[in-house]
Amino acid sequence: MKTYSLEDVTICWKPEKCTHSANCVKQLSSVFKPLKNPWIQTQNATKQAIIEQIRKCPSGALSVMK
Ligand code: SF4
Repeated sequence: MKTYSLEDVTICWKPEKCTHSANCVKQLSSVFKPLKNPWIQTQNATKQAIIEQIRKCPSGALSVMK
């Protein structure tokens, strides 16, 4: 599991769970950039927009920890 800081919360990324639906990459492309390092660029959208997108991840690969 990898983690990414987003203000007062932490984004968790579990690559083994990802089904590559690409929802995140297509719907919030300013943040989810699979060819960049880090691939989640939290500075490019609001916390609310990022959390809303994470909730749409169908596999549970992306989640938010308080
Ligand atoms: S939305 Fe979730 S399952 Fe789909 S590519 Fe992104 S992390 Fe993977």
